[in-house]
This record gives sequence, C-alpha cells and structure tokens, in this order.
Amino acid sequence: MMPAGRFAPSPSGELHLGNLRTALLAWLFARSTGRQFLVRVEDLDRARAGAEEAQLRDLAAIGIGWDGPVVRQSERTELYEGALDALTDAGLTYECYCTRREIQEAPSAPHAPQGAYPGTCRDLTEAERGRRRAERPAAVRLRAGVTEGAVADVLHGRYVGLVDDFVLRRNDGVVAYNLAVVVDDAAQGVDQVIRGDDLLPSTPRQAYLAGLLGYAVPEYAHVPLVLNPQGRRLAKRDGAVTLAALAAHGVPAERVAEILLASLGLPRSLPAALEAFSAAALPRDPWVLDPAELTARQERTLRS
Ligand SMILES: [Zn+2]
Repeated sequence: MMPAGRFAPSPSGELHLGNLRTALLAWLFARSTGRQFLVRVEDLDRARAGAEEAQLRDLAAIGIGWDGPVVRQSERTELYEGALDALTDAGLTYECYCTRREIQEAPSAPHAPQGAYPGTCRDLTEAERGRRRAERPAAVRLRAGVTEGAVADVLHGRYVGLVDDFVLRRNDGVVAYNLAVVVDDAAQGVDQVIRGDDLLPSTPRQAYLAGLLGYAVPEYAHVPLVLNPQGRRLAKRDGAVTLAALAAHGVPAERVAEILLASLGLPRSLPAALEAFSAAALPRDPWVLDPAELTARQERTLRS
C-alpha cells in the first residue's frame, strides 16, 4: 500500500475557508513528501444530502486533486465491526448504560483526569448488566489500560493527553469517530494525518487504540484554525466564507486559493507553493480572517 495523507470532511454542509485551508495543508504535506492524497467522507453522522458533491467540487475548484476513489465511512461498517470484535475478543471492551447526565453527575475516580469517563460500568456483574441492558441500549467502551498517552506532532512536538474508557460504538449503534478514523487510516495506508488543531486532544486516544489494534501510529500535524475577528473559530454565520458565497461577491475560487496560500506564507500558485512548502516554516498561530474585509477588498478591486 502506498503511504498516504488524507482530507476527511464530514458532509454536514459546505466547506468554509477554514476547512479549505486545512485541506490545502493536508494536500501540501502529502504531495511534498511523495505520498498519495486521499479524500474520505466521514458520513457516519450528520450527512446532508448534496453536501458531499458540493465539497468535492469545492476541493477541485481550488486545485486540489486526489488519488483513487473517494471512500465513505457509511459503506465501511463491517470493517469497524471487525475491529470492535477483535477488541472484544481480547477483553478490551465493555458495555456502558450511562446517560450523559449520569456521567456528568458521577463522582470521578480518585486521581482521574478531568473529562475522563468515571468508570461506572467498568466492573458491573453479569446480573447488573442484564438489568441495565433492559433499561437502555448499551454503548460499547474501550477498557483502557492507561489514563494518558503521548503523541509526537510535527507542529506541536510531544503532546500528552487524556486516554480514558472512551466510546467505540454509541448506544444508537453508530460506530464512534475515534474507532472509525483509526481503522480507516490503517486500512487505507494513511501514515500522515494533517487536520485542525481542535482535534489534537483526541489524538492520544486514537494513537493508543491504533497500538491495541496492532496498527502503526501515523505522523501527526495539527494545523492552526481560522478564527473570526472575535477570536472564535470561523463559521458560516461570519459572512461570505464558502466558495459559493464568495463567488456571489465576485471572488472566484482561484482567487480564494491564492488568498489561502498567502495566509500560509506561500507563493500564490499551487505548483510554486508545493515547491516552497516547508512544515517548519508554517505559521503556528491561527489565521484571523474578517470575511467582510475580504469581500470589500474584492469589490474595491472590481471597481478600480
Ligand atoms: Zn456507563
């Protein structure tokens, strides 16, 4: 299997400039290191009709090409269930019947890190399990043997974070993101994971799970997010932040690609940016973007 990097959007709506910038970075990291570049649609949850097509169109419009067919998580359930069975056979899972509220209100175990599952269902007797199972469908949790883990990140260095008995399959039967992403990366030969740094805290969990399943842990680079002028993560409500909205303001996709590359300190064409790309030289701070300023600048350009 060819080593690969990937971009893995959730088809919950249109990609905005923050998503597109992360996609560009993932593409630059992969292509500059001779890797394949894969696109995987993470549609186990929140898939909106037509969103996948629109997202793929937007990636192509800013010049991003990918290798092989696009993979959809919704078509790979058997793969995830296979991994889940292997963990269960190894005694590494248990059923959890807790509601969100019960977890919040449970006294946490002594020395347990904040935000960790309190372990309520870890050691129930068979009789207790039978009784609770009748009350509520069970989620499946990992029986973790550690409370924290370390990963190496290209931009953040060594990162230590929580590893708890996290959910592998939710109680509605849907495979949890943390399991699907680990299984997919291994199955697809993805050995380089580039994504937004909001996902850094879940990375030790995923690396730990990869180890339990006998997979190599990929190289990680968690890239800075795009923020609005108020310092919050860029969102649709911040204005014209999608290719369609920007096009309506007279900003074509090619111009958006140039703006995104410039925000990374790179030349404004993809081939030149690829040539110049260096992970070490990337900006480490979030990019603060005022969409109103972006469209106003374009309107001035068009008038002049
Ligand atoms: Zn529980």
